[in-house]
Amino acid sequence: MTMLNVGRPTRPEAVAQSQPATLTGGRGLLQDEPLIFELGGWEKTGVDLAEPDLGADDLGDLARNAPIGLPGLSEPEALRHYVRLSQKNHAIDLALYPLGSCTMKHNPRLNEKMARLAGFADLHPLQPASTIQGALALMDQLAHWLKTLTGMPAVALSPKAGAHGELCGLLAIRAAHEARGDARKRVLVPSSAHGTNPATAAFVGYAVEEIAQTADGRVDLGDLAAKLGPDVAAIMVTNPNTCGLFERDIVEIARLTHEAGAYFYCDGANFNAIVGRVRPADLGVDAMHINLHKTFSTPHGGGGPGAGPVVLSAALAPYAPTPWVVHGEAGFGLVEHVEGSASFGRMSAFHGQMGMFVRALTYMMSHGADGLRQVAEDAVLNANYIKARLSGVMTAPFDGPCMHEALFDDAWLEGTDVSTLDFAKAMIDEGFHPMTMYFPLVVHGAMLIEPTETESKAEIDRFCDALLALAGAAKAGDVDRFKGAPFHAPLRRLDETLAARKPKLRWKPEEPALAAAE
Ligand SMILES: *Cc1c(COP(=O)(O)O)cnc(C)c1O
Repeated sequence: MTMLNVGRPTRPEAVAQSQPATLTGGRGLLQDEPLIFELGGWEKTGVDLAEPDLGADDLGDLARNAPIGLPGLSEPEALRHYVRLSQKNHAIDLALYPLGSCTMKHNPRLNEKMARLAGFADLHPLQPASTIQGALALMDQLAHWLKTLTGMPAVALSPKAGAHGELCGLLAIRAAHEARGDARKRVLVPSSAHGTNPATAAFVGYAVEEIAQTADGRVDLGDLAAKLGPDVAAIMVTNPNTCGLFERDIVEIARLTHEAGAYFYCDGANFNAIVGRVRPADLGVDAMHINLHKTFSTPHGGGGPGAGPVVLSAALAPYAPTPWVVHGEAGFGLVEHVEGSASFGRMSAFHGQMGMFVRALTYMMSHGADGLRQVAEDAVLNANYIKARLSGVMTAPFDGPCMHEALFDDAWLEGTDVSTLDFAKAMIDEGFHPMTMYFPLVVHGAMLIEPTETESKAEIDRFCDALLALAGAAKAGDVDRFKGAPFHAPLRRLDETLAARKPKLRWKPEEPALAAAE
C-alpha cells in the first residue's frame, strides 16, 4: 500500500490476484486526491492581484517575515479538489443511508430554495428587530408548530443539536430544583440510552445511574421505582427507545418520576416515529429536544449546522433560556434579557440556526398536519417491512413489531466467523452504506436499520435483496468476502481508534517546502 507523506494510505491493495492495484491510485474515473497542501504549489496563485502598496505598518516585530504558506491553485484545480473530496463522502443524495438512531431522510430541495431566499439568507443577527419582522414571524410560526405537535406550552429554539438540547433541558431542570432550594444529585438513564444522555447529565454535575432493561427491550419499571428517590433530579428516557420500541409503560414511568419530585426528560431523537400521532405532553414529558435534522428533514452536517429546539412543560417554562420571540402591537421582537426572570441564561450567541428553522418550517408546511402524521406511519411501516423481510435469516433480539427502526443482533452469524463489522464492511462493496453497528450496546453485535419514510419500496427491496444475498454468502462459508472487505472502497479498513485517539490535525511538509520558498 502506498502512503502519503503524512502516513495516510492512498492506493487500495489488489482486490484479488487477478485485479492489480491501479498504477496511479485512481479508480474508475475517480482520482486519488492528495491534501490541498500537497496539491498546491507555494509559487503560484489562482488570482492575479496587484502588488499592494501598504506603506509603513504598525506591526513592528509582529510583521510576517516568511511566506504565509497557503497552497496556490488555479480555479479548476481548486474546484476539482473539492468536488473530488465530495465524491469520497457518502450522502443521502447518493443512496439510502440506513443508520438507525440517526433518521437520515431526504432533504427536500424546496427547503433549500426557501433557505436561500435573500430575506432569510442575507440577514445579520444584529439587525434591528424592525428590519427582520419576517424572520421573527417564521421563528414564531416554527415554535407554534413544535408546541402544537408536542402539546407543550413552551419551546427554546436556540440549542444547536440534540445533545445541546439535552444540556438545555437539564439546565432548566437544575434551575427548577435550585429555585426550590432542592439540591438533587442523581439522574437515571436506561442502559440502552444514547451516549449523549449520561454525558449531558454528568456535564451538568449529576451522578448518573443506570436503569435496567426488561427482556422485551423496555425500561424495567421495578428497577426504576427502586432507584427513584428524593435525590433524583430527573430521568432521561428515549421514546420510542433506541431498540426501536415504544415504551408501553411511559405514562406510568412519568407518574412514578413526578411522584418522586423528579422531572421527565424525554430524548426526542426518535420523534420521527410518532410525529403527528402522539403528543409527548400527553405522556407526562417535562422537557424534550427535537432534532430538526432527524424529524424535520434539515441536513445532517458533521456536527453541525444543526438545531435541537427543546419543548418545555409549564413547570419548566419559567427557566427557559433567552432569547425568545414575542408578538405585540409593535410587531415581533426578540426578548434577550428579562430583569429578575428565572431564565437560566443563554445556550448560544444570538438566536439559533436560522437556516435550519427555515428548512424545518418549509418541511412542516409542505406536509401539513395530515402529511406529518403520514410521515410517522410510513416510517414505521417501512421499518417493519424490513424487519419482516430480513427476519427469516437475521435474528431480532425482541419479538413483535418495531417502530421506525429494525434491530437485529449477531446470533444468526454464530459459527460463520463473520462479525457484525465484517458484514457491515461487505455492504460497502455492494454499494450500501452500513446500518448503525454495535448500538444500542445492550444488544450483542447490534445492527440497527432505519429506512425512514422517504425511501420507496423498490429501494428498500434492493437493500433487503443485497443483505439477504450477503447473509447467504456468510452462511455458505464465503468468509473471504467479508474478512477483507471493503475491497472496492478507496480506502480499506482504517484504524478508527487510532484516528480518534491520535488525530493528525496539522499538516507538516516533509520536504522543507516553506523554507525552500523563502
Ligand atoms: C442523535 C441522537 C442524539 C444526539 O443528537 P445530536 O443532534 O446528534 O446531538 C441523542 N439521542 C439519540 C437517541 C439520538 O439518536
